[in-house]
Amino acid sequence: MRARDCKIVATMGPASDAPERLAMLIQAGVDCFRLNFSHGAREDHARRMAAIRAAEEKAGTPVGVFADLQGPKIRVGMFENGEIKLKFNDIITIEASTEPGAHNLIRLPHPELVNALEVGDILKLDDGKLQLTVTERGRTQLKARVDFGGVLKNQKGVNVPTRRIPISALTEKDREDLVYALDLGVDFIALSFVQHPEDVLEAKALIKDRAGVIAKIEKPSALTQIDEIVEAADAVMVARGDLGVELPPEQVPIAQRKIIRSARAAGKPVIVATHMLESMVEAATPTRAEASDVATAVYQGADAVMLSAESAVGRHPQSAVAIMDRIIRAVEDDEEYWASLPRDMTPPQATTADAIALSARHIADVIGCKTIVAYTATGSSAVRVARERPRSGVIGLTPFLETARKLALVWGVRSMVTEDVSNVEEMVEKADAAVRKLGVAETGDRVAIIAGIPFGRAGKTNTIRVLRLE
Ligand code: PGA
Ligand code: MN
Repeated sequence: MRARDCKIVATMGPASDAPERLAMLIQAGVDCFRLNFSHGAREDHARRMAAIRAAEEKAGTPVGVFADLQGPKIRVGMFENGEIKLKFNDIITIEASTEPGAHNLIRLPHPELVNALEVGDILKLDDGKLQLTVTERGRTQLKARVDFGGVLKNQKGVNVPTRRIPISALTEKDREDLVYALDLGVDFIALSFVQHPEDVLEAKALIKDRAGVIAKIEKPSALTQIDEIVEAADAVMVARGDLGVELPPEQVPIAQRKIIRSARAAGKPVIVATHMLESMVEAATPTRAEASDVATAVYQGADAVMLSAESAVGRHPQSAVAIMDRIIRAVEDDEEYWASLPRDMTPPQATTADAIALSARHIADVIGCKTIVAYTATGSSAVRVARERPRSGVIGLTPFLETARKLALVWGVRSMVTEDVSNVEEMVEKADAAVRKLGVAETGDRVAIIAGIPFGRAGKTNTIRVLRLE
């Protein structure tokens, strides 16, 4: 069977973390796991990480893992009676305080937010089920009118789509979780509610080179600087859950296309996430609309599609993975996919390495190479080839297991850990052995190899060699 190019990310949770279950999920097609630090205790994540690494070893193929930090998820405080009722058109008071709220009084334990709000700002409560508009600003209090009412319970989420909130993308909890996740050895850190490129740079300064950074795009304010955020990050996520609360629903598909386009142009991996097969939290099969949604992300050129509750707490995690796998394969078997996939993304100010990656794809197309082998230390030359979306796929050969794991998130790349090579004969020999081992080519087939010569220096890809297997 042809290797699948678009990757599958599965969120870990009680429904997926038993060791036998994990092995089956990898078998069914999971390339990368998400540890969601919004839920569960740190020890749960540590246990899951150990189980993933054990399953990876058994499967014999590199598996990526990322820690998804909760970020500045704003919540209302508690209420004296656990909840209040908000009635259409009522005027309520909003105050910065950690004390419990009461009838027509909401207290927010976020003074930065209360200070930043102005008349006309909109507050969406509990995933947008309730909505308020600010009508008056006092010195320490705000007044707001209820646009859609209902019952508001303790600590429900607050989204403010109308304003850039002066809050860092890393809370105290996130900073502690970050250190913990790096110690666990995750491959990427996902940052929630990124608002501008500085959020990514701040995290990068803390992470150094210990993990890549995935910027989750879930604020309208991030969309206005999307190219700069993509540039700063190592990968991006179309986080449609919160994005869909902050934007009207009809804007979510437009934003999805815009984010994918920006990531593809910059050659950064892009994950499409949330509600992809949501009905499978309960049901054994997806709705037609869900199948179509996954397929659309694949047609648009996403590197990966993600399962959230479906794999974390759903009743059918394995079927959800298997169905995602089938949907992706069906699209990749469609000639129309290859005809319409945006390619030739190499920018005018391209480097030698970019040009080599593009040329390798052309060579592979013209003479029918079975694959393109990229010798890669950091992973970037494999990512460059993947950006050209070669029909032949890419094999990343790297001396570093960390690099092989990161490439699990990248479209079309399968990777293997191999010792460093020191001359052209070794380069050819190791590539030959790898492609045979992975079953992508056999005697008589041709493969293209890209590498940097002299060997052993990162970031110097300058050579293409075509090899016919003998
Ligand atoms: P979350 O992020 O699941 O951590 O909220 C994804 C999203 O908002 O879509
Ligand atoms: Mn979110």
